[in-house]
Amino acid sequence: MKIGILGGGLTGLTLAANLEKDYEVLEKDAVCGGLCRSLQEEGFTFDYGGAHIIFSRNQAPVDFMVNMLGENLVRGRRNNKVLFKGILVKYPFENGLSDLAKQDNFECLYYYLKNEYPSPTNFKEWIYYTFGKGIAEKYLVPYNEKIWNYDTARMSMHWMEGRVPRPPIEDVIKSAVGIETEGYTHQLYFFYPKTGGIQALIKALEYKAPNISREFNVTRIVKQGAGWVISDGKGEKRFDEVVATIPVADILGAMSEVPQDVSTALNKLRYNSLICVMLGIAKPHINDMTAVYIPDREFLPNRIGFPMNFSADNVPEGKSSLVAEITCNKGDRVYDMSDEDVITHVVEGLHERKIIDKKDLCYSKVMRTKYAYVVYDLEYLKNVKIVRDYLVQTGVILCGRFAEFEYINMDACIERAIKLAVVLNRG
Ligand SMILES: Cc1cc2nc3c(=O)[nH]c(=O)nc-3n(C[C@H](O)[C@H](O)[C@H](O)COP(=O)(O)OP(=O)(O)OC[C@H]3O[C@@H](n4cnc5c(N)ncnc54)[C@H](O)[C@@H]3O)c2cc1C
Repeated sequence: MKIGILGGGLTGLTLAANLEKDYEVLEKDAVCGGLCRSLQEEGFTFDYGGAHIIFSRNQAPVDFMVNMLGENLVRGRRNNKVLFKGILVKYPFENGLSDLAKQDNFECLYYYLKNEYPSPTNFKEWIYYTFGKGIAEKYLVPYNEKIWNYDTARMSMHWMEGRVPRPPIEDVIKSAVGIETEGYTHQLYFFYPKTGGIQALIKALEYKAPNISREFNVTRIVKQGAGWVISDGKGEKRFDEVVATIPVADILGAMSEVPQDVSTALNKLRYNSLICVMLGIAKPHINDMTAVYIPDREFLPNRIGFPMNFSADNVPEGKSSLVAEITCNKGDRVYDMSDEDVITHVVEGLHERKIIDKKDLCYSKVMRTKYAYVVYDLEYLKNVKIVRDYLVQTGVILCGRFAEFEYINMDACIERAIKLAVVLNRG
């Protein structure tokens, strides 16, 4: 029994590392890792797919990542802020209300308490219903419309249930009067590789699961008898089972005779691409923040991460670093901007907002990622079901963020890959 694993990102490699059967990972790039790759240049380390941290509500995937990294590990404490009207407000916003100007603080608290919104039917209504008009209009709606690059009234709210609870009334009142509280406590403390960025995790997995064919871009997936033939247009590989962790559009694109309704549903699945602007600053320790969230519509990045504060090894002696994350879609204004223009916009914007002094800039680079975020529009559940049902019927097993087309983080990728390995090991 030989298992073909399509894609050498976190999901594919975790599956491989947990299989007791013969396997081969087929990865299109020369380097594995997908969204979990890191760039090391001029003494700086940046994560390609935006700043990544290791956290979870569940202990098992955290233990798995921590064990994989062994000694190469640091533990950090979140110090995120929301940049609102020039003030760095404690994150999550509802836990930092006393940082706001008095009128804004009052409006957030008043509308949180006097919340008469009916049961919600979409993501925007859910934000108003859960947090009230003040927090919704000042932060959550503009911020979410930036990161999702989509109208929140046209987004589904199914993914909020269980993920983001209504903040306790005591906490919001304490936050407004300035008594310290913490929200999203499952990611208050996090782990991160000491050296090598998040790709260190990938490297540890590659060491454990070395049967990988790199630069094998899967373009044909054909069922033949009881098995499969997978091709990159140059060579063929045969497997008894196939697990696809590559984007679902690539899976269907490699199959023949896909029914029209499945292609139509696939084309309606929305995703966002990502532009990361990585900057090096020739000054030590410019701040002690882990990330800044930016709801301001005039400035393109939705979030700035500070790798220098995840691990001191991420920067050369005496320097600082940050990564600006910008979501976009093919065809929009941002997507078509040149790297130089994006860098100029980000540097000028950070300078104006006093996060950096532009004269200290000593390194800049842009990385673009096609598949970064799954966007839950109102038709998502219907369309994803059509696509998944069809693929289940073909016998291809789906696992991972863009194969299952679900907004999942590293922890869920790991949980699902390990669960699948248990099933395949039994079979
Ligand atoms: C901005 C951002 C920040 C994030 N931050 C965090 C965080 O802090 N913590 C966290 O837990 N998670 C975070 N995540 C989520 C995390 O990156 C993903 O959940 C995880 O990396 C997904 O892994 P994957 O293997 O399923 O997919 P991918 O990483 O997309 O891997 C798929 C692999 O398949 C390969 N491939 C694609 N097409 C083909 C083909 N045709 N043939 C062969 N190979 C192919 C790709 O090259 C890639 O290596 C973040 C994501 C983003 C976008």
